[in-house]
Amino acid sequence: MPDTLNSIAVLTSGGDAPGMNAAIRAVVRKGIFHNLKVYGIKRGYEGLIHGEFREMSLGSVADIVHRGGTVLMTARTEEMKTPEGQQKAREQLKMRGIDGLIVIGGDGSFRGALALSAQGVKVIGIPGTIDNDIAGTDLTIGFDTAVNTVVDAVSKIRDTATSHERTFIVEVMGRNCGSIALQAGVACGAESILVPEIPFDLEDIILKLRRGHRRGKNHSIILAAEGAASAYKLAEELHAHSGFDTRVTILGHLQRGGNPSALDGVIASAMGGKAVELLLAGKSEMMTAYVNQEVTEVPLNAAFAPKRPFNRKLYELAQELAI
Ligand code: ATP
Repeated sequence: MPDTLNSIAVLTSGGDAPGMNAAIRAVVRKGIFHNLKVYGIKRGYEGLIHGEFREMSLGSVADIVHRGGTVLMTARTEEMKTPEGQQKAREQLKMRGIDGLIVIGGDGSFRGALALSAQGVKVIGIPGTIDNDIAGTDLTIGFDTAVNTVVDAVSKIRDTATSHERTFIVEVMGRNCGSIALQAGVACGAESILVPEIPFDLEDIILKLRRGHRRGKNHSIILAAEGAASAYKLAEELHAHSGFDTRVTILGHLQRGGNPSALDGVIASAMGGKAVELLLAGKSEMMTAYVNQEVTEVPLNAAFAPKRPFNRKLYELAQELAI
């Protein structure tokens, strides 16, 4: 261990995601195990700039591994994007003798980390966002839980869709990335999956609905990422062109909450531990990543590479299965 590393800090930034608490717990416990002083910073960079630090004990992270959200809370702040804000953030770390910072968040949060790195702070990123839209890692913390939440919600919606012989458009999160819609759509056998990466064809959706109807199918689920279509407008158009009774459910923020799935709990814990290991090894500007079912590390810059390619194969399979 480089002898300069005595104290580290951890913060969560950007959107919260189930599993962030498991990652915080792992950072704290692993750090203390290795005789480090570990600080938790409240409210992301907002709290960093304004000095909201508290030293974490083993007990401070008891009973959180299974809880959604983030006990450190999260925030977005424009101040961190300014040289003055970054300077203040650096000073806050310096006055406490903190040499290493672990940032749990999305790619915006990692840009903040890189700005601190330019001022001599060792930084490690942990990808935490339900959207799974960070390059360099197969999974981000929270994605698996969000997909499970959507699948659970859709199976409940199917009950009422069947009873009333209705078509439901279920809107899920994903402004630029259709991963949640695609994975959940395949898992719950949605009749159509709409993603921002691939323009949809209204005629095709109607064709599928009619085909299903002729086979005696009395309900349909269209899973739409928020960036793919306006759910209400689509419902109007579908009704106008096909006559099918179409309803909309927007799942919204409930997709962000809930206890992390077992997979998220494991990945988050492993990433938290890995992040501390990287700091102990004197590394910086790295991101923990889940690649080929293993937690490893990649350069933090990898997160800014063009987005991970859309899983077209799975999308095409979904099309075939929903014939
Ligand atoms: P999510 O994917 O959940 O939106 P994110 O980390 O990408 O997470 P952002 O809102 O983009 O979320 O960024 C979170 C915070 O990171 C911002 O509020 C800001 O404080 C900081 N940040 C973002 N971009 C930069 C940047 N270019 N330079 C410095 N700090 C930044």
